[in-house]
Amino acid sequence: MLKFLKSSFLNLISLFMSKKYAIGIDVGGTNLRVALISRNGEIVEKIKETSMGNVLESLQKMIGSIYRDDVAGIGIGIAGLVDKERGVVLLSPNLHSVEGVNFVELLQKQFPVTVFIENDASAAALGEKWMGAGREFNDFVLLTLGTGIGGGIIYEGRLADVAAEIGHMSINADGERCPCGNSGCLELYAASNAMKTKVISALEKGTESLLRECCEGNYYKLTTEDIYKFALEGDNLAREALKDTGRYLGIGFANIINILSPEAIILTGGLIGAWNIYVQEAIKEASRRTFKAIFERVKIIPSSLGNDAGIIGSARLVFSVTDGLAKAKEIAG
Ligand SMILES: [Zn+2]
Repeated sequence: MLKFLKSSFLNLISLFMSKKYAIGIDVGGTNLRVALISRNGEIVEKIKETSMGNVLESLQKMIGSIYRDDVAGIGIGIAGLVDKERGVVLLSPNLHSVEGVNFVELLQKQFPVTVFIENDASAAALGEKWMGAGREFNDFVLLTLGTGIGGGIIYEGRLADVAAEIGHMSINADGERCPCGNSGCLELYAASNAMKTKVISALEKGTESLLRECCEGNYYKLTTEDIYKFALEGDNLAREALKDTGRYLGIGFANIINILSPEAIILTGGLIGAWNIYVQEAIKEASRRTFKAIFERVKIIPSSLGNDAGIIGSARLVFSVTDGLAKAKEIAG
């Protein structure tokens, strides 16, 4: 009986290992990305849609359009706090519609493979470790800088199984209320909404700025790209908004560096386009607030996979399990 069980187990692993692809999914506050990814990390096919509609229905259609028989599994990285064991999204401050949805159970009903779920920034960290800027580091923190700030931690070469809700570290004791339930969170001061709010309230108060002429006179439509563009042209208000949010980001860096002393902080997300003012200011602020000996060994660098880090890392969730099984098979003989 035992012999029979062992051979069935080994056959199952061989079947798993013969499947060449995984589907990697990135569910963000703005976009849904679904891709077919090979065992060596190559993107074979990818599709993108906005996350405005019903996220589950859109994903079901998108996966259906690229699914094939030699898919070993599906990995999802999703913006928010996830219960990996149950497969449920517990909280998603920037994408409330997915809260309470059991993606694992629902997708496993439709597709005959195992589905894995992870936080989106953690999946991106795994992607960078596997195929990107994180390959050369054993310990690093990845931050996604956009509407919010997400975090993923690679520790001793592996994805750390921790919440890593770095955007929700408290940095202002009497700060504004955050959708997460806390107040004074880092992402309220160091991400894109903070930049826009600062600029708009100054314009409303009559501050002189080239930004007033932007967006056909409707400065409520300003984007962070506009702010960076005008800052580079020498506009003071735009420059100050970037430096001020950068300063708060630097406080976040300093807290990470003093606690974890990682080899690197890898940055991704729309805001890294404003690197020369916003990120530079953050690095300056972090250098002032950290132990010198720790700060000197930290590299603060951009991601090399950009928007693909999440889909690649989500696919890696699947392959990590199949590779683990292959090792088990080797041992079992
Ligand atoms: Zn918060």
